[in-house]
Amino acid sequence: MSMSGTKIETVTVDNYIGGRWKAPESGRRLPNVNPARTSEVVGLAPDSDLADLNDAVAAAEAARSAWRRLSGAQRGALLYKAADLLENRAEEIGRAMTREMGKTLGEAKGETIRGAAILRYYAGEGMRPVGDVIPSTDADALMFTTRAPLGVVGVISPWNFPVAIPVWKIAPALIYGNTVVWKPAAETAVTAGLIMECFHEAGFPAGAVNMVIGDGAVIGQGIAEHPGIHAVTFTGSNAVGRKVGQIALARGAKYQLEMGGKNPVIVAEDADLDLAVDATISGGLRSTGQKCTATSRVIVVEGVYEAFREKLLAKVKELRVGDGLDAATWLGPCASGKQYETVMRYIRTGIEEGAELLVGGGKPDDPALADGYFVTPAVFDRVTPEMTIAREEIFGPVLALIRARDLEEAIALANDTEYGLSASLYTRDIGNALAFIRETEAGLVRVNAETAGVELQAPFGGMKGSSSHSREQGRAAIEFYTSVKTVFVKP
Ligand code: NAD
Repeated sequence: MSMSGTKIETVTVDNYIGGRWKAPESGRRLPNVNPARTSEVVGLAPDSDLADLNDAVAAAEAARSAWRRLSGAQRGALLYKAADLLENRAEEIGRAMTREMGKTLGEAKGETIRGAAILRYYAGEGMRPVGDVIPSTDADALMFTTRAPLGVVGVISPWNFPVAIPVWKIAPALIYGNTVVWKPAAETAVTAGLIMECFHEAGFPAGAVNMVIGDGAVIGQGIAEHPGIHAVTFTGSNAVGRKVGQIALARGAKYQLEMGGKNPVIVAEDADLDLAVDATISGGLRSTGQKCTATSRVIVVEGVYEAFREKLLAKVKELRVGDGLDAATWLGPCASGKQYETVMRYIRTGIEEGAELLVGGGKPDDPALADGYFVTPAVFDRVTPEMTIAREEIFGPVLALIRARDLEEAIALANDTEYGLSASLYTRDIGNALAFIRETEAGLVRVNAETAGVELQAPFGGMKGSSSHSREQGRAAIEFYTSVKTVFVKP
């Protein structure tokens, strides 16, 4: 598989099983359109069946024993190679990502380079300690913990970060000695194929990492159900994640779910309003609001509400909507027709329930954008906590302004949600900051920083309904991808 950056071409992506590219047994394909120009078919993804999945699981099982027996350093050397390959192809992979799911080329390339950094981080993990020596009550004995791989890990990933998310799952799975069967979102199949090319060229043994693309209800659910898959890691929506978790639990497989968010930014009375406005725009509208950590609820304390709103509106009106490949574009289209319909439905619901749409929420005027899933960034005023747009994840360029009497009420409003992924506060007061850190029910708590944006060496994940309560990234990944063995040895 290959693609050049600028020519309009359709890439046919195959599954990657046991070190080989394989067309789906069914021969069926899922077309993948460019959301900025829907007449352009970017890729033809495999529409795989369970037969393809069974093949991949068998390949991963066959590779398991030899892979586990390599040293961490040996496995790490392959991850370093994959990192270099990914980084060298950042421009090409970035362009594929932009054409498939619409984010701007700058963000897409940045994400690819982030993918390389994640691979390097986990390559290094191959050389770091994995256990503790624990004093035994028996003076002659040696007691210690070590870590065992789980076996075959199933990875189910969404389209919104089509490089970073699968890499932050696949890299720790591999370094700790597991083999992998990965099901990317079919919407970003071309990007996924390019990632697998990097792993292939890096020289991983056949079957260590496998990719099967298909319908979520077939291949995703198939991974959750497959008795040959020992653990399942999932990132995506709550509706699907809960199902995956229930299926895995019922058959005794380990599972991890990272799901949606309804992330608040609180603007306190003493906030630097310009910084808070920039963070609200960047956190809420970059990537067209399609980040799990995107700012969605903007909770502003009364005294600065009007001043903040006017500054926000002035800047939102300036944001340039367009094709992500155009360097002047600040925000691209919604990733797919389905996403576009969902966002437009929420905008209608917001209006029907009595919120006031101050700006955006429609098609851009530019006729060149008529054939894309574009929505101008929307700001709703007079949003109350019980409204649908204050409660449900929209996953689009929509901000909901909510008024609070004081910081205490603002924090209560921020916590008034089933989700708990990220939350942010803008303030200059250390007391406000400490109260917020203490009271906020979110896995990522950020003071004077936007809700989106994570560092790869730190734990990442949500509280409440956003997660199955384990953490990804950084050293935290070892908890999911390994099992602790407590060893007791007597002479
Ligand atoms: P989604 O749940 O529709 O799909 C996620 C993955 O699950 C895809 O690979 C899909 O094909 C697969 N899938 C679909 N139906 C399935 C089924 N019945 N069984 C098993 N797998 C199935 O989510 P999406 O629209 O691709 O992504 C957007 C969602 O992901 C948002 O809710 C967002 O908040 C969330 N997300 C969370 C994080 C996080 O780390 N918390 C990061 C990014 C995105």
